[in-house]
Order: sequence, then structure tokens, then C-alpha cells
Amino acid sequence: MVLEGGAAAATIAEVAVSRPVGRLLSYEVPDHLIDAAIPGTRALVPLGSSEATGLILGLRPKRSEEANKPLIELLDESPILDQSLLEMLRFTISWYRAEPSAVIRCALPAGLGIDSVRSLLKVDDRDLPFDLAHLNTRLKSGVPVAAKAFTEAEVRHLLRSGAVTEERRLKSKKEPQIEWLRALVHPDEVGARAPAQRALMNTLFAAGDWVCIAELRGVTGLRRLINQLRQRDAIERRFTSWVEPPVGLTSTIPELSGEQRRAVDAIDLGGGFAQHLLFGVTGSGKTEVYLRLIEALLQRGDQALVMVPEIALTPQMVARFSARFGDRIAVMHSALPPGRRRSAWHRARRGEAAVIIGARSAVFASLPRLGLVVVDEEHDGSYKQSDGVRYNGRDLAILRAKAADVPIVLGSATPSLESYHRACTGEHNTYLHRLESRPTGAAMPVVHMVDLRRPSGSKSKPAYPLSDPLRLAIENTLARGEQTMLLLNRRGWAPALLCLDCGLRHSCPDCSVAMVLHRRGGSICHWCGRREEPPRRCKDCGSSAMIDAGIGTQQLEAACIEAFATARVERLDSDTARSQRRLEAILQRMAEASIDILVGTQMLAKGHDLPGVTLVGVICADQGLRMPDPRAAERTFALLSQVAGRAGRAGRPGRAIFQTFDPQHPAIACAAAHDAIGFYEGELKRRRQLRLPPFQRAALIRCAHPDRHLAEEAATAFAAQRAQGVENLGPTPAVIERVRGDFRIQALALSKTARSLQAWLDKIEPIRRAWQKRGVKVVVDVDPMELL
Ligand code: ADP
Ligand code: ZN
Ligand code: ZN
Repeated sequence: MVLEGGAAAATIAEVAVSRPVGRLLSYEVPDHLIDAAIPGTRALVPLGSSEATGLILGLRPKRSEEANKPLIELLDESPILDQSLLEMLRFTISWYRAEPSAVIRCALPAGLGIDSVRSLLKVDDRDLPFDLAHLNTRLKSGVPVAAKAFTEAEVRHLLRSGAVTEERRLKSKKEPQIEWLRALVHPDEVGARAPAQRALMNTLFAAGDWVCIAELRGVTGLRRLINQLRQRDAIERRFTSWVEPPVGLTSTIPELSGEQRRAVDAIDLGGGFAQHLLFGVTGSGKTEVYLRLIEALLQRGDQALVMVPEIALTPQMVARFSARFGDRIAVMHSALPPGRRRSAWHRARRGEAAVIIGARSAVFASLPRLGLVVVDEEHDGSYKQSDGVRYNGRDLAILRAKAADVPIVLGSATPSLESYHRACTGEHNTYLHRLESRPTGAAMPVVHMVDLRRPSGSKSKPAYPLSDPLRLAIENTLARGEQTMLLLNRRGWAPALLCLDCGLRHSCPDCSVAMVLHRRGGSICHWCGRREEPPRRCKDCGSSAMIDAGIGTQQLEAACIEAFATARVERLDSDTARSQRRLEAILQRMAEASIDILVGTQMLAKGHDLPGVTLVGVICADQGLRMPDPRAAERTFALLSQVAGRAGRAGRPGRAIFQTFDPQHPAIACAAAHDAIGFYEGELKRRRQLRLPPFQRAALIRCAHPDRHLAEEAATAFAAQRAQGVENLGPTPAVIERVRGDFRIQALALSKTARSLQAWLDKIEPIRRAWQKRGVKVVVDVDPMELL
């Protein structure tokens, strides 16, 4: 780096080290490393009295007063991460106030991290110290041995004697390679006389598809046989780096509707950064728009990043992409086994995978030829990580697209207020594209409302959970051989156990919430996971008159089984869909119509395209509205619209029934009338009045400690910090005030501009450190999704 007068100023590398030190560290780049020290390269640096590995995130000229230690060495020949990703990592660290080592870990898969192993290397002509001579057999000249194999005292002694030197190496693992074989011709055509060759041919031919080499392990002389058959062009061999066979391309490509065509045409793939909100009703074919854009992109040789919420819940989405793009896709999400994650990461980084599809963590993939970003169901709360690095994958995706100067498409039937507002104002180069009809010709479901309040003057109360109109509708649906989905966003048997004499609610001893009664497994705290037998007597007054209050999905399932004797009833919630396999099995049975009624939580609303569903019932539409959270209405509107949108997607008319105590509430009324614009306009007005997001940016500081006073004192200290343009609210107890024995008190900062919010966050940094030293857990949540 040469300054104006020609005098060379030293260069400083900003490094995220592998240990949690809370900030980036600065190191001087020695002359001999100046050409190779490029951001995105891993490096070995001095840290305290030892050494650490880290990732160079940026370079800058040295300031005259600075004195920094030099980098020791570089660990890569060229950067391992692309430049738009590096910019995003720097942003993540500064905007979310995140621990750099944790942020770096998001971007580097296990085995390619910046964690290092320490090893010892014997120096050629030196003898080991006399008292350690017994180690001679374990240390050979020139062969590094893991330091772990020796005691700490031995290591120190060995190093001091000069008989060994120390070395740090990155822990890295090779990418798995899986071999597949497929028959190309009929066994009779091979002309192979050797019985072993014939037998292998028969096996492969009978399979009719790719066969994993692991399944042929019993075959003797397999290698030789493979070579012989390949020479005869009888079989084909492929390698994949994951445990899925190479897929054939089998999808039929529909003709785009006029609306879809207009959206595809309006999104300019070569035109640099722009945000496109694809606001399309449920079933309007947003996915087809993504697929078409990506097809065009791949012809340019570029890569697409496609983000979907909770990928495990939407196997259909991945299936649609792999049907179109075959093995050019790489699936990435944190539930994959490490080997597959690693190989997806490498395929993306080398540019071999053209379409990277994954949950929020996929935004951290290294993509050298990124040309388009798609965020499906952009409103979904699961894009926000709720612990550790509290980033929002959707927001980072926008930043990433901007850094790479490529377009981003945000799709939803129920966009977040932030995205809708941006699209209406055109801020940050945002465009709105609407899809208002379903290309399959299916009508939007007709929604009926059932008022759960008792009509004035009436003595009878409406039946619950199945009101008469809902029960009748289910009977009719069953009679037509069609399917029903029933939403109740509360798992378990009953949400609470009450004492009839004194009214005491059976609560978790460590959290301020009721223990949820489960049919099996006793009562469970949904916040800390504590399980216990439900008490037979009230803990307060000793009364044995304990009753369960309210119903959960288990009880609804039981009620359906009782009410509809011939129906096949199943349940979809995080208890029944504990594994990917079980979830897929339930969805598969729904698709095959071997389930008549599917009861479930919000998992029902996740974009499933199930043609047999013509009725959707919502047991209590206002359930989510009772949360004292500014986004409660927005979330309820989205949930109701999405779940209703599951009905009648394939030609047959669908309908939905919302049971509610509050039919006039805009979130419910607008969802019932498919009046998204009406809801957004009203809600934006309310948010503007209350100066809530999207009109202000927010940061929530939550202080947690077993001693309530200490937590309160800390939150008070934060709430007392002033900064220009920043409004402080609190301290207030969190809605769930106690979790796992900690009291949680919070302060909220609101600000019109991102800059002043950041200035406030800078200001509280020393206070945060001071309270953390006193043992208070301080969470800083920037752009929080939930204020609970
Ligand atoms: P969304 O994601 O907007 O809810 P989908 O992409 O799941 O909608 O599309 C809904 C259904 O419409 C799917 O079964 C899809 O195959 C079908 N579809 C999409 N586009 C077209 C089209 N142009 N012509 C016919 N069917 C289409
Ligand atoms: Zn009692
Ligand atoms: Zn608990």
C-alpha cells in the first residue's frame, strides 16, 4: 500500500480470531506476506502469550501512533471466502454486535474452521531431555505429533529443552466422495461371459437407477469388475459428494401466466442490485417465477442463492428445485450431517453447485459467481436466529445482494411490514410485483367466520373446539372424500392445570409459565424442557380438584377421532414430526390421501402444496393476538392467510373456517377477506403512530440473572443511556419474566436512523462489559423479531 508522497505505510490486517475476544484484532502485515495477505485468507497470529488462528476480514493502512504485533504466517494460498461474503461478515459483526469468532464459524463449515490443532515436531539432531527419554519412541524426527498426546508439563519441558518445536495446523477434513454406478445396457448386450460380471450387471440393471457403491460391498473383485464393465461401456460411473444419487431431470415446465411473465421480465438479471418484492397470493406460482429466473441465470454461468424458511419442513420445495436443476443444486442447512454440509459448502465455493438452496445459514455460503438471491416466504420468523449470533437471514441476504451488486427477489403472500413498506416507497431500489391470481385456475378459498362468543341473551355456549358449523363442514368434506386441516397453534394435551379451589396454576418452578400437560410424558415446561408428573394435589392448598384448562393439539386430535368415527386423523406438530423422516412420512400420507383430517400447529401453514385439502379450520384465530408484542397482529394475519391458502389449490374449491372471539380484529377480518392491502395500510398507520418498526429501528437489551434486583439494576443502567435521536423504553420485565431460574428485565431503544441506533449501541458497550463481569447475562438483540 503506497501513500501519496511515495512513502510506504505499513498495512494492518483486521483479524477475527478463533477465540472469543469480543472484537476484531489488528496485526501488522510483514513485508514478505504483503502480496498474499488478502481478506478471506486464514492466518496464524500471536494472541496473549500464545498463538491463535483467525480469518483476515479487512486491510487498512497503519495509523502512525499504532503499535501492533505482526502476523506470523498465512494458512491459505488464496482467499477461501468471496468478497461479498466478507463484507457481509464485517457487517454482521458490527451491526448485530456479534462475537467475531461466532460469526466466522457461521461461514466456515466444521472441519474447515479456524480451530487449530497444536502439534510437536522433533528437531533432527537434538536428544530429548534425560528425564523424558521414555518419550523417544513417540517422537520421530520430522513427523508432527498432536500435542494432546502429552501432558501439559511434558510439552512445556520438551519445548524448553529445544528438542521439539511447536506447530499449529488448521483442523481440516477432506470432503467425502461417494461413488455411484448405473447400467447403460441390458445384461444380455454386454457379451460378458464371466459369471461375476453378469451378476453385477444383473444387480445394476435390476435396480434401474444409480446404485451406491456401498451397497455392493459384498461383491468380490468389485474394482476389477467395474473397470472391465466400464471398458465395455456397459456401465456409467459418477461421483457425488453427498449421499444422494445423481438425479435425472424429470419435471414438466408450465407455461407462465401473464402475471408471472411480467414479473420474470421485470427482474433484470444483469442490472446490478435491486430488490424485488414478489407479493403473490398463496398458490400464485411464485416458485415458478424463481425457477424461471434461475434457469436464465444458469445460462450466464452464475450461481443462485435460494433461501427458504425451515427447509426441513418443506421437502417439496427442494424436490421441485432438484427436479428442475438436477445435481446442480446443493442443499445447505444446519440439520445436515457434517460431511454433507461440508461437501455442499465446497461445491458452492468451487462454483460447481449452481443453485444453493438452504435455510437462513445458507446466506453464509461462499459463492464466487453469485448472480441472484431469492428469499422465499421472506416474512417468516425463522429467518431470525434467536440465540448466539442474532442475525436475520433475510436482512443479511439483502446486504449480500447489495455487496455482490446482484438482484434479490423477496417472495411472500404475506410480506413483512418492513418489506411491504420499502416496496411501496421504492426505498433502497425496491420494486413491487404482484401476483393476484392462481395460474391453476383455482379460486381463493372462501372464509367463514364463527363467533365463539355467546350470542347476547343466549344461554348455550358455542361448542369448542369443534363448533357446529366447523363440525358440519368437516362431515361434508369427509363425505366428498376430501381432506381437512385443523390449525391449533399449541401442542400438548392442555396448556395448563388449574386448582379449582384456590385457582393456582401449576407452573414451572424455574420459569414463569404454566406446565403444559402432555398425554404421555407428564407435564412439560415448553421454555426449559423440564418434565414432571402432573401433581395430584394443589401445591398451595392441597386440594385434589385439579382440572386441565384449554386444549392442545393432542386433545384436538382425540376430539376429532371421537367426533368422526370413520375418519383417519393424524397430527403434525413438533412432537409427531420429531425427525425429518417422520415429517416427510406425514406429508407423504397427506399427499396420498391416506389421512382425512390433519390436526397441527403452525407447521401446517408452511407452504405445503397438497391438492386434496379443501377445508381448513382454525380453532381459535385470535390465539396469537393476546401476546403483548407489537408484531402479534402481523404474525396472526400471516398465519391465517397462509393456512387458509392451503385449501383448494387444485381446481376443487376450497374453504376455511376461522373460529374466533374477536371477528372484527383487522388481522382476522382482513385475512378472511383476502384483503392484504387493507391490513397493511391499517397496520402501517398504527406502527407509524406508535413509532414502531418499520418507522424506527429497534434494539432490545435483555438482562438476565437469578437475582431480580441485579437484573433490574442492569436494565436500568441501559435504559438510562441517552443518544441523539434515540428513544429509550423500559426497564420492563420480559413477558415471560423468569426462564430457567433467571429473571429477565429489558430495555428497548428505538431510533429513526440506523446510524444513531449504532451510536447508542457503541455507547452501551462498556456498560455491557461491566454487567457481564458481574455475572448478568446481557443479550443485545438488534432488529428483534420478538419483544418477549
Ligand atoms: P406459491 O409458492 O405462490 O404458493 P406455487 O409455486 O406452489 O405457489 O404454485 C402453486 C401451484 O401452481 C403449483 O402446483 C404449481 O405447480 C402450479 N403452477 C405454478 N405456475 C403455473 C403455471 N404457470 N401454470 C400452471 N400451473 C402452475
Ligand atoms: Zn389450590
Ligand atoms: Zn421451565
